[in-house]
Amino acid sequence: MTEEQRQLAEIARAFLSAAPGPRATLESGYSADTWDRAVEEQGWTALCIPEEHDGFGFGMAELGLCFEELGRHLTGIPLLGSSLATFAVLECGTDVQKGDWLPSLAAGLRATVALDGAISAARNGDAWVLSGAKLRVADLAGTDVVIVVTDEGLFWVPTGLVTPQPVDGLDPTRPLANILLSNVRIPEAGRMDRAGFERFQARAWTVLAFEQVGLADAALDQAVDYAKVRQQFGKPIGSFQAVKHMCADMLLQVESARSAAYAAAEAIDSNDPGLLDACRAARIYCTDAAMHCGGQNIQVHGGIGFTWEHDAHFFFKRARANQALLGEPRAHRETLSASVLAGAAPLPEFDISSDDEAFREEVRGWLEDNLTGEFAELRGRGWAGDMDGAVEGRRAWEKRLGEGRWTGLTWPVELGGRGATLAQEVIFLEEYTRANAPGRVGHIGEGLLGPTIIAFGTDEQKKRFLPPILDGSELWCQGYSEPGAGSDLANVQCRAEMEDGRWKVNGQKVWTSLAEISEWCFSLCRTSMFERDAPKKHRGISCLLIPMDQPGVSIVPIEQITGGSEFAEVWFDNAETAAENVVGDIDGGWRVAMGTLSFERGASTLAQQLSFANELGQVLTAAKRTGAAQDPVVRQQLAQAWLGLRIMRLNALRTLNGHHDGTLSREALITKLYWANWHRDLGELALDVLGPEALTEKGPLERLFLWTRCDTIYAGTNEIQRNIIGERGLGLPR
Ligand SMILES: Cc1cc2nc3c(=O)[nH]c(=O)nc-3n(C[C@H](O)[C@H](O)[C@H](O)COP(=O)(O)OP(=O)(O)OC[C@H]3O[C@@H](n4cnc5c(N)ncnc54)[C@H](O)[C@@H]3O)c2cc1C
Repeated sequence: MTEEQRQLAEIARAFLSAAPGPRATLESGYSADTWDRAVEEQGWTALCIPEEHDGFGFGMAELGLCFEELGRHLTGIPLLGSSLATFAVLECGTDVQKGDWLPSLAAGLRATVALDGAISAARNGDAWVLSGAKLRVADLAGTDVVIVVTDEGLFWVPTGLVTPQPVDGLDPTRPLANILLSNVRIPEAGRMDRAGFERFQARAWTVLAFEQVGLADAALDQAVDYAKVRQQFGKPIGSFQAVKHMCADMLLQVESARSAAYAAAEAIDSNDPGLLDACRAARIYCTDAAMHCGGQNIQVHGGIGFTWEHDAHFFFKRARANQALLGEPRAHRETLSASVLAGAAPLPEFDISSDDEAFREEVRGWLEDNLTGEFAELRGRGWAGDMDGAVEGRRAWEKRLGEGRWTGLTWPVELGGRGATLAQEVIFLEEYTRANAPGRVGHIGEGLLGPTIIAFGTDEQKKRFLPPILDGSELWCQGYSEPGAGSDLANVQCRAEMEDGRWKVNGQKVWTSLAEISEWCFSLCRTSMFERDAPKKHRGISCLLIPMDQPGVSIVPIEQITGGSEFAEVWFDNAETAAENVVGDIDGGWRVAMGTLSFERGASTLAQQLSFANELGQVLTAAKRTGAAQDPVVRQQLAQAWLGLRIMRLNALRTLNGHHDGTLSREALITKLYWANWHRDLGELALDVLGPEALTEKGPLERLFLWTRCDTIYAGTNEIQRNIIGERGLGLPR
């Protein structure tokens, strides 16, 4: 959002907060006063009308923000009907029609669009005769004009010529009416062509998507507020994980829906060639999110949520009504699946400066020149399920990357890095994936230990340890987990004691990735005595750097469900390391460990969508080959996978553009949970599209299916992620 948009959203929120809510609509219908002010003071009807037609010339993003607030407050005003009429004229009207009608619409002429139902339109001389019925027209009461959609075009019909029949709807806060037309004569000048109808629909889906975001967010706020104060079993219910995790999942959906809606508006405003898919994706995701959040809000409230007296049902009903209003998501998924299967629905790119474009070219060129000879065979090796494959070749490749100065890109120049921006790092990782370059064996040193030393290490440690990470000569593994310390990492029992000026380490680590090929392990060890008292267990831990090649270290590979052995048990039996090999303070390793974990959720996750896109491409190819792509259920799943990946991408772009003050934004907090779930679902789909071939598939799709089971475990399990989102993102009690 630009600053101007942020202000507009704030003003819209303040305006609607003070306006009558949904209960007032039940009692006395829409608020004429609020509508007049929305038109005259806020200028909402003129927002996206071009200046030449007396509008403000803003775009869908600005109007969308008003709809988001409308969804949040469920204010009774006919903004939907009025906006639909404006979209119809904008997209389907001739220049003359725009000149005639848009200024009146900008000034608040009441109008709506009748979509559903059958009306025949027959030419009669220089006019058209319309007959039939349109059903479930939104915001009809009080209009001057209803735009009637037929196969022959869209007709500008004065409302006085139709017979309205108000109908009771599922959502009592947005009135609907059927209309009957009997031989209504409309001059040719009142007919608009259908050519722009798809774009009209795209706009309509988009504003409703924004409205769904607003009401999903309001439902989340209600649920969280209640979970903080409602006590059961002597505690706030928000401290129970079942409730906290419901709220965390709602937050994930709200933020992802927001990304989808913003991107749809942006696609329309920039006339993006993929705008129909972008708007469909928003329509589907935001609808699902609103339904989910509306429903879960009722669940969090228990019995009171099921009462008429509580407002929770208004959000739930509006979410479902909106789902039915402009085509069910399953129909949109079916259409989207055709684009996805035809390869016509790419992932969104992100804006890069011309400098970065030059950087991208440099990366591309270097990879082309260097992924040759012995390294050409490494293309595609070392990724999901093959992490321990072709290790020797990949070690040599690390050194080649180091020679090219492609390691430690964002590290400061004085420490041997390039001082590159986060965006450049993402570009590098994207091009790396695009070139199908080998999975990195040096990623733990470069991505975790290096940044940890830069943040917490001494100058001597920086001099000793950073250069061999950069040149690929020393590999690192991470010795955090132990049999009794997984999610509860502070429970580590591995001990280090100072003897004769050196640390002696004893204990066991487990699930240590790449331990067998690493020269060094950074390890959390107990170095103090007060550790065993539970309240103090985060104290007395230190982060030690331990050389692996010594008699006191034994490594026992563990076979994984894929058949590979990417991780191992590591036993320290009087293993030694120098006194100065402690990162951060002695006994102050918890702070260091938390720093390392935050790097684990950093830039690499922003760029991984491209490798996910490659995997989705393999699944699509398999679906076409086996015929599963003909199955309507599978097509729904393929479309869902594509739009899930698209939204992951959009979330990442928002994270990139977001806070740079070290705090985690809401969209950054959901990253791990989002991608882990998406990837696991893709793994399942990978075998689903194979049908009976799944029994004997021993290739990449089986590896994907099996490997993705660990995504929801390592780097913080899904459950721990939900705890973090609930507590840090939503402020729910521990
Ligand atoms: C492929 C892979 C590679 C790995 N690589 C490394 C590595 O290089 N270095 C390293 O140190 N570790 C590594 N790990 C270990 C990983 O960090 C742990 O597996 C993870 O932290 C979970 O710990 P655990 O396995 O002991 O499971 P547990 O913590 O025992 O969890 C078991 C189940 O209980 C749930 N649970 C636990 N506590 C809570 C709670 N408070 N609330 C709700 N649910 C809870 C978990 O979510 C999970 O479902 C790796 C793991 C995998 C799968």
